[in-house]
Amino acid sequence: MTTAKDARGIDLDIKDAIEGYERFRLEFERDKAFYKSLATKKQKPRLLWIGCSDSRVVPSQITQADPGELFEVRNIANCVPPSWTGDEAVGAAIEYAIAHLGIDDIVVCGHSGCGGIHALAEPIPPDNEAHLGRWVEYTRPAHQLVAAARVPEEERFAATIRAHVQFQLDNLMTYEIVAKGVAEGRVGIHGWLYDMEAGEIQAYDPRTGAWRGLLEPAA
Ligand SMILES: [Zn+2]
Repeated sequence: MTTAKDARGIDLDIKDAIEGYERFRLEFERDKAFYKSLATKKQKPRLLWIGCSDSRVVPSQITQADPGELFEVRNIANCVPPSWTGDEAVGAAIEYAIAHLGIDDIVVCGHSGCGGIHALAEPIPPDNEAHLGRWVEYTRPAHQLVAAARVPEEERFAATIRAHVQFQLDNLMTYEIVAKGVAEGRVGIHGWLYDMEAGEIQAYDPRTGAWRGLLEPAA
């Protein structure tokens, strides 16, 4: 928070958001029929997107999705807490997506340079960041796997980010509604990784255990 204000007395931190909203109002008037249909019809998104809260990784931008197309869960380090952990936020979204919205594809998308993955390697003050400290514990299995595999130091961070996505796919399967849907061939789960520098997505192939470019055909 800052107390810096512009000439009209608007907090500079929210000035861009207010100006963006002014532009959105114009767009809304131009596309009124589209927004009216969104508001009056039941939502029918194509994907459940589980991604990181990171402000630089914007799901609707990298998939060029319109409003109404992505049902999103975003949290620090794109975590899917296993169903037995008692975290309700992600599980509720998964169940709502499948049971009520008829979504049949779930994407877990990690990204390069993820601060939420890196956080576990840094000390987190337990007194005033207790929630953060507990949350990033969900990334520990990936850190442990990579440490045990003796991945060279310079590759360790990227390897941990990839392994973490793979663990979240396993965690998705701890939800009965997902496991049943996958077993019956109704639900697909997809592990993706967005490289911020290249602007490219890699996809995990569970049959080969390898990652490949999302636009490359499966081997
Ligand atoms: Zn992140």
